[in-house]
Amino acid sequence: MLQQTQIATVLERGFYSRWMERFPGFAELARATEAEVLGAWQGLGYYRRARNLQRLAQVVMSEHAGVFPRDPALIRELPGIGPYTAGAVASFAFGLAEPVVDGNVARVLARLDDDSTPVDGTAGGRRLWARAAELVRASDDPRSFNSALMELGQTVCRPARPACGECPVRRHCRTKSPEKLPVKSARPGVTAVTERVFFLRSAEGVLLEKETGSRRTGLWRLPALPDAWLDRPPPVLLKTSYAITRYKVTLWVHETPAGLRPQPVQKFVPAGELAGLPMPSPYRRALEQLLKGGVFRLE
Ligand code: SF4
Repeated sequence: MLQQTQIATVLERGFYSRWMERFPGFAELARATEAEVLGAWQGLGYYRRARNLQRLAQVVMSEHAGVFPRDPALIRELPGIGPYTAGAVASFAFGLAEPVVDGNVARVLARLDDDSTPVDGTAGGRRLWARAAELVRASDDPRSFNSALMELGQTVCRPARPACGECPVRRHCRTKSPEKLPVKSARPGVTAVTERVFFLRSAEGVLLEKETGSRRTGLWRLPALPDAWLDRPPPVLLKTSYAITRYKVTLWVHETPAGLRPQPVQKFVPAGELAGLPMPSPYRRALEQLLKGGVFRLE
């Protein structure tokens, strides 16, 4: 959960506790249906994490007899586990001398070594991981060491106005210009994307469509406006926008095109069942607004 979401959100809004109640162990998660897993993940977004977690549970059940492996090489082979998560699990859960490099750690290490290699490039990444490994292997308490390094970045060696006067590692620090570090490569700009969907409500419920072949596979959303209607779309009921990774998406919800027939991937869902259906958050918010009677024509 913490791969993309802040710890305060995960804990204070009850995502972690609800998930653990629903799936207390690998066995329960491994045998759940896709709809149960995606439904329990609702509100957190980036659903790939939920799918990876279930695949991980299945691998732990089938290849590790239901016991999470302690060997860092085996941890790194599990679905959805990259170097950061592998290092965090190995050191925090098992106390192993494995490095963890997040944004905070990268900043601290770049400043300590006065290293201006871009931290998000291949060479910079390799150097950071090697340096973090060297340091954690020299410590006698890897769990506390990694935790302390991350916390130092969060609380003292902050991106702006680092508190060098209070820094416990100041005498080891080589930079004279901490605010110029770390150096990052230029990022690609934000790309604008348009999504056009339509809203159809009947006595049976709201017409929804199940996503296939995208990162949102298995989630339900308002049906896409058919291509034939894109040049002259029906009147707009709602316009909203949301951001995902480097995309800024404008979501237009239109009235139902005249004469439209529901497709096999679409179904009417009674209003009372909508809450239990896995759905991307922007679509859920739009649907709530439409159902609350906030429907109005914009053009
Ligand atoms: S002395 Fe300043 S720049 Fe160096 S690690 Fe400490 S807070 Fe960061």
